[in-house]
Amino acid sequence: MCQQPAVGLSLTLSVLAEMPTAAAALVVPHSPVGDHTDIETVRTFAAQCDVVTFDHEHVPADVLAALQADGVPLHPSPDALLFAQDKIAMRRKLSEMEIPIPLWGVATNAADVDEFATRSGWPMVAKTPRGGYDGKGVKVISSADEIAEWLEQVGQPGPLKEGVLLEEAVQFTRELAAVVSRSPSGQAAAWPIVETVQTNGICTEVLAPAPQMTDDLATAATEAALRIAGDLGVTGVMAVELFELTDAATGKTSFVVNELAMRPHNSGHWSMDGAVTGQFEQHLRAVLDLPLGETRAREPWTVMGNVLGGDYPELYPTYKHLLARDPGLHIHLYGKGVRPGRKIGHVNVSGTDLAELRGRAQHAKDYLQGVVDE
Ligand code: ADP
Repeated sequence: MCQQPAVGLSLTLSVLAEMPTAAAALVVPHSPVGDHTDIETVRTFAAQCDVVTFDHEHVPADVLAALQADGVPLHPSPDALLFAQDKIAMRRKLSEMEIPIPLWGVATNAADVDEFATRSGWPMVAKTPRGGYDGKGVKVISSADEIAEWLEQVGQPGPLKEGVLLEEAVQFTRELAAVVSRSPSGQAAAWPIVETVQTNGICTEVLAPAPQMTDDLATAATEAALRIAGDLGVTGVMAVELFELTDAATGKTSFVVNELAMRPHNSGHWSMDGAVTGQFEQHLRAVLDLPLGETRAREPWTVMGNVLGGDYPELYPTYKHLLARDPGLHIHLYGKGVRPGRKIGHVNVSGTDLAELRGRAQHAKDYLQGVVDE
C-alpha cells in the first residue's frame, strides 16, 4: 500500500517478495523474489536501494547486522526494531522508561510460572516473545501445564530461546492504538488515538478517533507513544497498542501499553482515506527524512473494517453493486489468496454519524465475504 503514495511522491519502490504472487509484488514493478532470512539475498537486494525499510518484523538479527556493516541506511534501525521483534526486550525497555505496562515476568520452567502466579493470579497470559502475530503465540492459561510444550523449547534456538513471556490478564475496557511517525532528523507526528475492536484475537474494526475518550487520556497516550518513538530512535511509522483501564470506583480511565509495531499498521489503515496524510505516505516521508504530513482527521469519524477470508470459495463476487450502493465507501483489496480468517482487504468510510458509518462498513465486509448478497 506504499505504492500508491510512492507514485504521488515520484519515488521508485523495490520489494523483496516472498513469492511472485505476494500482494506487494503484484503492484510494485521491481519485485525480485527471495528469502528475507538469507543474508546474501537481502544484501544483493539492498545494494540497489537508497533506503531500506520493512513491512514486517521478522528479518533476523544477523541479516540486519550484515546490512548495517555494508552501510545500508535501515529505517527503523535494528537497534529500534529489536523492541518490536522481541516482546521481552520491549517489556524490559518500557519498564526502564516507566511507561505503564502490565505486570510481567519471564518463565524458563513450570516453577517460574507458578511463582509469577503468586503475583498475577490465574488466569494469566503467556506469549512467545518472537514471531507472533494476530494473536498467534498468545495463550490465556490457568496452569503451567498448558504451556508445557513451550517450556520444553526454552534454551533452544527459536522464538522461545530466552523463555516464555508471562503477563497478568489485564481487565481492560477496550483496546486502543496510538499511531505516530518519526523521521531520522527527529520530526514527529501523531494521528488521533483510535479504538481497535478485536474478534477472536484479530482486529476486525477500527474507530477513529476512539469514541468517548477523555482529552487527558488521549494526551497521555499520545505523549507516551511519542516518547517511546524518541527514546527508542524509531524512524518511520510506529503503532503502540494500548489497553484502556477504567477505575471501577471513580470511572477514571488510564492505559497500559500492550505492544509495539514499527511499520504501517492495521490500526492506521483508516488514515489512508480519513486523515490529511495517510500512514503509508507518512512512512515513506519519514524513512526518507522528508518533512512529515499533517495527521488531522478529514471528517469527525472514520470507520475501518477489515475484510477477512471466509469459507466461501469465491470471495470476490462482482463488487460493482457495492460500489453503486455506497459511493462514499473506499475499498482496498490486497490481491491475496483467500484463507479463512486471513486479512485480505479493508474498507474505510468517513462522515459525521458513527453508528451509521459502522453499519455501512459492516455491510461492506459482509458483502465482500459473501455473507449477504444485496
Ligand atoms: P500479537 O503479537 O499476536 O498481536 P498481542 O500481544 O497483541 O499479540 O496479543 C493479542 C491479543 O491478545 C491482544 O490484542 C489482546 O486482546 C489479548 N492480550 C494480549 N496480552 C494481554 C494481556 N496481558 N491481558 C489481556 N489480554 C491480552
